Order: sequence, then C-alpha cells, then structure tokens
Amino acid sequence: MHGKNMKVYINGKYYDKDDAKVSVFDHGFLYGDGIFEGIRLYSGNVFKLDKHIDRLFRSAKAIMLDMPWSKQQIIDAVCDACRTNGLQDGYIRLVVSRGRGKLGLSPFSCEDPQLVIIADEIQLYPKELYECGLKALTVPTRRNSQAALPPMVKSLNYLNNILAKIEAHNSGYEECLLLNNEGYVAECSGDNVFIVFDGKLITPPISCGSLGGMTRGTVIELAKKLGIELLETPITRFDIWTADECFLTGTAAKLIPLVELDKRVIGDGKPGEITKRLIEAFNEVAPKIGVHL
Ligand code: PMP
Repeated sequence: MHGKNMKVYINGKYYDKDDAKVSVFDHGFLYGDGIFEGIRLYSGNVFKLDKHIDRLFRSAKAIMLDMPWSKQQIIDAVCDACRTNGLQDGYIRLVVSRGRGKLGLSPFSCEDPQLVIIADEIQLYPKELYECGLKALTVPTRRNSQAALPPMVKSLNYLNNILAKIEAHNSGYEECLLLNNEGYVAECSGDNVFIVFDGKLITPPISCGSLGGMTRGTVIELAKKLGIELLETPITRFDIWTADECFLTGTAAKLIPLVELDKRVIGDGKPGEITKRLIEAFNEVAPKIGVHL
C-alpha cells in the first residue's frame, strides 16, 4: 500500500497523505531547524536501522534538540510504518523538527518536536545509468564549512546541497561534485565519492566535509572483506579526472558508477571492474544487514 493510500506517521498516529501536516509555526518549516534520515527497506529488512538512528541522535545532539523518544521507540515506529504501508522494499524518510515556536529564531520557545515517518517507494536513477554510468560537474558552491554547519549533521537545511544541484542542472547535469573550502573533494550533492587507482579504493575522510554515509560504511567493510586495499585520504578533482574508476554511494542511489567529471572521461568511460564487484557484493549483503520487519 503506497502512493494514494499511503499512511504517514506523525507522533504516533497515522494520517492519509493529504491530511499529513505539521504547523506552519514549526521551526522546521520556518528555519529548516530539524534533522532527518533517509533509510532503505530491502526485502523486508530495514537497512542498518540501528546505525541510522544512532546518526539521527548524533545530529540531534549537535543541534541541541532534546529527543523525547528513545532510540528503541523510533526503531519500533519505523518498522510499524513499513508494516502499516505493506512495504517490503522502499525508502523511509524520517524527519524530526524542532516543533512549534514563536516567530523569532530562538529554538527555546519550541516545545513539541515532531516525529514524521514517510514510508514509500523509491525513485531510483534510471537503470541505464547503473549500466552506463553517470556524468557530473564540479559546481562553484563549496560544501558547508566545518566551522559553520558541520556536514556530519543531517539537518533539514539542505540549501547548500540544493544550490549545488541547481548549478549542476543549469549546466545540463543532474549530479555534481562539491569541494570544501580548501579545494579538496567533499562529496556529491547527496552521495559520498570513491575512486579506484592502481587497484586501491580511495575515499576522502569525513573531515573533508561529507556526511558519514551508511552506504559508504558498508562499502568500506566490503572492500576489507574482498581484500581490496582501502585508503581514506584527501583527494582533488585531478585525482578523480585521472582515476581508473569512480563511483558514488548513497541510500537512494546505492552504488552508481561515475564515468565523467568536468568533461574528463574517467578510466575507459565505462563502469570499472572493482566498482562492479562492489555493486554485486552490496546487493548481496544489503537485504541481510539491519532490522527485519
Ligand atoms: N552525503 C549527503 C549530503 C547525503 O545527503 C547523503 C544521504 N543521501 C549521503 C552523503 C550518503 O549517505 P547514506 O549512504 O547514509 O545515504
């Protein structure tokens, strides 16, 4: 049951899609003051659910949002929302907003944080892109500075990433690369980046300005299992242009090959061998890691 008949969870109750509303005085709406998670459901298994909830609580801590729910309550609510919507495969959007408050910026007038869970199907990139690979562009907008809004916080304010998306779209691309203020690769608009060079798998450390991706974490574990050497080290655009392979990782995209950046063809312009091995390994383990409904 999804689409029109979807039931949206808000603070312990279910609402039809058209009736699923939060107040316009919610600071999530007024200021983007809140946090979220995007979670995958694979064959009745909520992928890395515990780890997603841990990340949610770290985001909450960073923005000093007191969570009135326990981790277990949220885990149970996510599973319940999937069951209520009759889903076995899908995408779960979990949102916690600061709640209703006065019109001023101060979050201290907000007393009723809202917990929203939308369990739906996922709009993936078209299948051809997984076979042929994606093309992307480096955009002028830099990733948020660690000293401003740490990119590790999965906050409701995604304007940094949205501006990057707009710049990419205006230049005819749907995906883009963001650099940090030092000019090193941070991440793509909603995905982490990996390259393969001389048989080694390389990804920038989180400190370069990316979210600590769940998919990224699983790829790192899989590389270890498959005996692929892994390096977490700062990389530049040059490293991507001249890499043998490149791919992006994210909950919605899973693993997707990147075959061109800034009009430079990466490797031979086709998804690489190590990329394909990791995609296969990921598809195999993803339905087994996490919480079964
Ligand atoms: N970076 C950003 C900015 C993201 O929003 C996301 C999530 N879509 C990722 C990276 C990938 O993280 P995950 O694998 O946890 O989805």
